[in-house]
Amino acid sequence: MGSSNSRQKDLEPEEPMHHANGVNAQPTQRMSGMIYVALYDYQSRTDGDLAFHSHELLEIIDQSHSDWWRARSKISHMEGYIPSNYVAPVKSIEAEPWYFGKIPRIDAEKSLLQPENENGSFLIRQSESSYNDYSLSIRVNDEVRHYRVRQQHAVDGTGNVFFISRRRPFSTLEMLIEHYTSNGDGLVISLTKPCRKSRAPLTATLSYDTTDNWEIDRTSLKFERVLGQGQFGQVHQGLWNGRVPVAIKSLKPGTMDPQDFLAEAQLMKKIQHDKLIRLFAVCTTEEPIYIVTELMKNGSLLDYLRSPKGRQLKIDKLTDYSIQIATGMSYLESRNYIHRDLAARNVLVGQKGTIVKIADFGLARVIKEEEYEARAGAKFPLKWTAPEALSYGKFTIKSDVWSFGILLSEIVTYGQIPYPGMSNNEVMLKIEMNYRMPMPEKCPVNWYLIMLQTWDTDPMKRPTFDALRSMFEDLLFTDGQHYKESAEVL
Ligand code: ATP
Repeated sequence: MGSSNSRQKDLEPEEPMHHANGVNAQPTQRMSGMIYVALYDYQSRTDGDLAFHSHELLEIIDQSHSDWWRARSKISHMEGYIPSNYVAPVKSIEAEPWYFGKIPRIDAEKSLLQPENENGSFLIRQSESSYNDYSLSIRVNDEVRHYRVRQQHAVDGTGNVFFISRRRPFSTLEMLIEHYTSNGDGLVISLTKPCRKSRAPLTATLSYDTTDNWEIDRTSLKFERVLGQGQFGQVHQGLWNGRVPVAIKSLKPGTMDPQDFLAEAQLMKKIQHDKLIRLFAVCTTEEPIYIVTELMKNGSLLDYLRSPKGRQLKIDKLTDYSIQIATGMSYLESRNYIHRDLAARNVLVGQKGTIVKIADFGLARVIKEEEYEARAGAKFPLKWTAPEALSYGKFTIKSDVWSFGILLSEIVTYGQIPYPGMSNNEVMLKIEMNYRMPMPEKCPVNWYLIMLQTWDTDPMKRPTFDALRSMFEDLLFTDGQHYKESAEVL
């Protein structure tokens, strides 16, 4: 424990300065008429958008919308809308293959440790803690080393300089990378290739047209196969406009009032985070209501943990899942939003089994009252619900923290039902009398100590999600094999 403190000590904050963008030390200006370069391939989805290939140059015509810009290809001269997160200003730092932006240290490690990266693979990211600096992360066998890249005003007043070692300053980050590629010069290893970037990111919405117009035509959806069955209806894998893979949830008629659902959906639309399933669109003009979301290829975390693949996951991976879930919940916490049904069945797993995201946030609130009460039957998630929520209906972010503790027990037992062998009624009565779930078999003690904190009778004494995220990060850094402090002095 305590490594977050030791990490703090490592930092030497400089005077805050204007944030220059490295390569040509020019701040990135997002102005129309500028030339951008495509970072990924993009296939056209509607008549109004523009397809392009990675590295293609695009002239930006209109940036008035934040997620979709109007652009003209410098190659085909065609015009159309493009997703703004697929491009970067030409010659800017964001256009460099080695620049990963503001990603956490832990994500840099995960990316670099992917098998496709070789020894010496590297990336530059914006420092999490020091606004003006960058970090260089390098793969060294099965570990990742991090070096602070400082940015300061040049002594001769000619702009900013970048350096790892004060004795060797560079006027651009590109020059710094070139130098340490040709010569390790004190680094533990010379740089080889930029870390592979993962697949293209999610677009913020399905298309430019659906950004302000959520309600999509149900005929634009093609149902491909059933992914699963929830209490309120089926979930299908499908395609929007014949091209974009999506998940489509159909709600059994009568489950929700379409007006209530739409109001909630408006709110959910604003809640966008990497660790929360993206809500893309809805069909509410007739029943069944459809909810169209991001597709997660490996389905629910509960099923995944119980599968042969899931059962082989080591504790480091399980800790990483807990960090990802706590990160998503900590975002909800910061937006004063409550999940109300946090459980492994409501967490979904991505294609490679490395990414998990929280689903179904907000839906519990719009389920019709009688349906909700009907849930007090066998299917009500009583074992996940905090006592004050059960007794007085007091759902808060702190009742979500309680549910997170139960979710941790599901993770560490590879999907066992919580309180094994006990009925819902028995659990409810015993919890009131201060009974808590005993430590599951093979659960690390430090996990259990965290779980107990989430089950404090006094909701205010339960940790915040932000604190829970740090606790699990500390476990990973203390127990993990591949974390090294960047204390090297060059
Ligand atoms: P509840 O009805 O209590 O919320 P649930 O979460 O299992 O239970 P659904 O959200 O309807 O019910 O999901 C049913 C199943 O469909 C999930 O267990 C999962 O396997 C699959 N599923 C749901 N959403 C997606 C998605 N976005 N991508 C891939 N699979 C999904």
